[in-house]
Amino acid sequence: MDERLGSNHKLVKIHNRALVLKIIQQNENISRKRIALLTGLTQATITMIANALLELGLILETGKDMSSGTQGRKQVFLSINKEKHRIIAMNLGRSLVQTAICDLAGNILHKSEQYLELFKDSEFASVMIEERVVGIIRDLMRDFDMDSQDLLGISIAAPGPLNSGNGILRSRVTDGSGQPSAAPFDWRDIHLKEAVRREFSVNVFVENDANISALGESWFGGGGGVSNLAIYMIGFGTGAGAIIDGMLYRGAEDVVAEIGHVTVNFNGPECRCGNIGCLELYSDFHNIIDDYDRRRGQTWKIPARQLPNSEAVLRIKGIFEEAAAGGAEAVEVLTAHGRVLGLGAVTLANILCPERIIISANDLGDIDLSILIIQIQEAVRRRAFPSIADKVGVVASTLGRDITLYGGIVLVLQDLFLNIAE
Ligand SMILES: [Zn+2]
Repeated sequence: MDERLGSNHKLVKIHNRALVLKIIQQNENISRKRIALLTGLTQATITMIANALLELGLILETGKDMSSGTQGRKQVFLSINKEKHRIIAMNLGRSLVQTAICDLAGNILHKSEQYLELFKDSEFASVMIEERVVGIIRDLMRDFDMDSQDLLGISIAAPGPLNSGNGILRSRVTDGSGQPSAAPFDWRDIHLKEAVRREFSVNVFVENDANISALGESWFGGGGGVSNLAIYMIGFGTGAGAIIDGMLYRGAEDVVAEIGHVTVNFNGPECRCGNIGCLELYSDFHNIIDDYDRRRGQTWKIPARQLPNSEAVLRIKGIFEEAAAGGAEAVEVLTAHGRVLGLGAVTLANILCPERIIISANDLGDIDLSILIIQIQEAVRRRAFPSIADKVGVVASTLGRDITLYGGIVLVLQDLFLNIAE
């Protein structure tokens, strides 16, 4: 059998299972017949998939639909099994660390959030980060009286570069040559997947934050109904992820759509990635604080990039609030910043031609991004390649600060479908 054909066939199977589960998630008490109608799949396929999901305990048969069907052939309803199986989804953001217990219906049942300086120190940080992550999960499970038996899996979103296969967050200081490598983070290799799996003996998934956000949006957010979408992650760092033909695109190295590291100024300074004049040097939200202070003639003892995470977030929120209240300087600063971010969106549109570009600043929490999004929309409308500009819609994420947690649920479920799609 042609290997590629086999692999494509498998992807279709995973996609169909995901689609059926998603429809059952969205419609409590739904008949197999109605699922067939909504998905366009045959009733035979739905029956086969439903049987597999029933066997795994992911869904339940919940009574009969007395309103449809002929006498003696009543439909049986299907619902998500909310009681069984929990997923722990974790987000190791650049500033915000979130940990949540979720059910299969996509509900976040419990969530803890903290602003941590997790990735700031390079010396010996890797072991400390591994221990810290294990400790946070252990505390959450103890607080809610859970053990590994209750878990379908643990998913962890982290900033790249990382390898989703072995779950290692890569460093800049251990490239083997003794010289700093070009990787953009000041940490040693962090064996996150191995550390968490060793402690809890469950399936553990580690994924780039932009990739996992793209999954979250495609399933639970504003990506419904489209097969091609890009997620544009803005804030303290600039990145992107892509769903192409309904599937997450990982490239050859789990690192794709590094939109923050395209050159926008070929005379610009060197970037931490090794390139010059990268977009991120201008699009990072620390630039908003710098620009605002400059316009106000304020000088601060600590440069914006050295502010503690929680303080930088507070300052950014303050500027957005001032703009919402009509403050002229704040409006000017954010409008200018929106134009810079527009550069990235135009490039994403031109390269991927997605049906939707979804914008998220999840590190900042639930912040109203409209003032930036208007500029980004305008940039795509005016400057993306003509036939592409007509196709691409630019919208704000509807999942807010929890985007990677929702993506984590999808990641665990997709793996399950991969295993039953053999
Ligand atoms: Zn760069």
